[in-house]
Amino acid sequence: MISTDTRTAILDRADIVTVVSEAGVKLKPAGRGFVACCPFHNEKTASFHVSPERGRWHCFGACGEGGNVIDFVMRHRTIGFADACKYLCERFGIAYDEEPETDAERENRLRREAIYGINERAAQFYRSLLHGDSPSAKAALSVAHQRWGKEHTEESGLGFAPGNGQELVQWARSHGENLTLMLEAGLIGRNENTGQLYDFYRDRLMIPIREGLGQHVVGFTARDLTGESKAKYVNSKESD
Ligand code: ZN
Repeated sequence: MISTDTRTAILDRADIVTVVSEAGVKLKPAGRGFVACCPFHNEKTASFHVSPERGRWHCFGACGEGGNVIDFVMRHRTIGFADACKYLCERFGIAYDEEPETDAERENRLRREAIYGINERAAQFYRSLLHGDSPSAKAALSVAHQRWGKEHTEESGLGFAPGNGQELVQWARSHGENLTLMLEAGLIGRNENTGQLYDFYRDRLMIPIREGLGQHVVGFTARDLTGESKAKYVNSKESD
């Protein structure tokens, strides 16, 4: 964990106007602060406010988000708290100090890393299914190519979850994956009556959601292929 002193030093010294401007946001002076079009949602009128006095930003438009300079970096670069602090320390020449990790923090971190690992391997498995020989895989691949193009389909690591509801469960069993963690990550579900495990995603194109610099698969967006589902897109449930 980052030390309290380092956090305080960042909030004191990392100038929010500099940080927001360097993120490519075109700030215009207004009153005691600055305004711009919000970088976090699409808009034509400037509802994104930055107050250098308070060291805070806020969007009064559709997204309603706001916070301090660390929150801005986390949101803008889609990285975690620690990485945002490291970035700001480097940028403003602040010494980065850590306090030792507590047992609970360590447990949480290991669990999170384990879920990233399973998501990554599941994403690779889904990807291999998208390039499979079955008629349903071929149909899914052609939908993906039509919608996103060949290049983007490959780059984003798009995959295919078939309709039988047992493909991922079987893969997990044969590879010794941790089924409890997979339940937690929302990749599989358990039938309450029979206790049977099933694939949560069925008949869907699987789009991995990556965090930060693209290193972790934190979840999936899954697009319906049947045209019958009420939800065209489904996102992973919130997990660690
Ligand atoms: Zn906004």
